[in-house]
Order: sequence, then structure tokens, then C-alpha cells
Amino acid sequence: MEFHVITLFPEMFAALDAGLIGRARNQGLISVTAHNLRDHGLGNYRQVDDAPYGGGSGMVMRPEPIAAALDAVVAERSGLVKIMMTPQGAPFSQAAARELAMADGLVLIAGRYEGFDERVRALVDREISLGDYVLSGGELPAMVVIEAVARLVPGVLGNPASLAEESFGASELLEYPQYTRPEEFRGMRVPEVLLSGDHGKIRAWRESEARRRTARRRPDLAAAARKT
Ligand code: SAH
Repeated sequence: MEFHVITLFPEMFAALDAGLIGRARNQGLISVTAHNLRDHGLGNYRQVDDAPYGGGSGMVMRPEPIAAALDAVVAERSGLVKIMMTPQGAPFSQAAARELAMADGLVLIAGRYEGFDERVRALVDREISLGDYVLSGGELPAMVVIEAVARLVPGVLGNPASLAEESFGASELLEYPQYTRPEEFRGMRVPEVLLSGDHGKIRAWRESEARRRTARRRPDLAAAARKT
């Protein structure tokens, strides 16, 4: 799967060289390409922003450089979903990641300054927000989307079974409590059932713990899970 980002700070995406995503890139399962918006800037100064019409503080990103950068990315590829990163978008979720993972690829547009000229909205397929807070750029949000979607691409996770079991997986519940060695740590013991070797009992315990934990920590999720 191909991931493209349009950004003023392509160097930030070096963070995606590490870990699981880095390995998936080396194996050719996914590609991540950061395109410098500055290359499509206007005039000698390669300008990408300007003062807002009507006045007000800060600068707004002009539409033409973004349109040119998008055209250049989609020119030789089909099936890319165009996404604007904005706090005004649809809140990102595991369900959204699953849906995006079915595309051939994504082009994510990272904003800066006071955000985008309103007409940029007409150029994209969807708008995604990471949450109800404001960051100074769309780069970190774009990386979060890439990481969440990339790990759903077949082959990227060593053990695909963990996808079904982890939080927001097939059950839409938070994951059950996990333990590893040692059996006792500062007086806290691993629950006896996990040491029993009885796989039926272990499954039942995990299922009920996942439900209990979700009900206590995230009643909103528990209510949604009951409806399905
Ligand atoms: N003035 C804008 C915010 C601009 S923040 C507004 O009030 O809506 C600058 C850029 O950071 C945005 O264009 C966007 O790309 C990115 N950004 C900031 N917060 C974000 C969030 N919660 N989710 C996604 N992108 C975000």
C-alpha cells in the first residue's frame, strides 16, 4: 500500500523509518513518500501561505500549491484516497483505519499556520481529525494515520491474530489484561487461571475481563458493543 504526504516538513517523516513500519517499508509491503509542498510554492520565494481575507491573525495556506502538489501525486497513480488533516474533520478511529486500509493508497495533506484556505476542502475526499485539540501541524496526525492503517496491511504484523484480539479489534472491546514473567512482582500475582493451562477457562476469563474493563473504563464503547 502506498502512503503519500504533502508537507512543509518532509524530514519529520524519518520517524517512520523505525520499528514495525520501517521493517514493512524495507520489505516493500508499504511505501511512504513525503512530498515537499515548497516545491509547488509560488514565485521566487516559493510562497505557500498568505494573510487571511477579512483580516485576523496568522497566515492561511493558499490553495494553488496544494492543488499542484496533489495533481503531481495522483497523476501517475489511481485509487489514492485524498485526505486533509484538520481538527475540523471526522474523529479518527480504528473503524476508519480499517476502511482506509482497503484503499490502494492514501495522500495525506498536513497543514501548518492557521490551516487551509476553505477551497482546499473541495480537492479532497475526506477530512480527518486526531482529536479535540489543536496541534501546530498536520505531520504528527498524518503519521498516526499511516501507522494505524499500515499495521492492518496484510503481512505487516508478524502475528495477524493479535489484530482480532487487541483493543478495538473484532469485538470492539478494550483488550483483556496481559501478564508475562515473573509470576509474582512486588506482591502482585499473575491470576491463577492463566497458569492453569485450561484454554477454555482462559478464553472465558479473558472475555469477561475485557467486558468488565470496557464497561468500567469506556462505558461509551460498551454500550456500542451491546448494540451490535
Ligand atoms: N486554525 C485551524 C487550526 C490550524 S492548526 C482551526 O482552528 O481549525 C494547523 C494544522 O495542524 C492544521 O491545518 C492541521 O493540518 C493540523 N492539525 C492541528 N490539529 C489537528 C488535529 N486535531 N487533527 C488533525 N490535524 C490537526
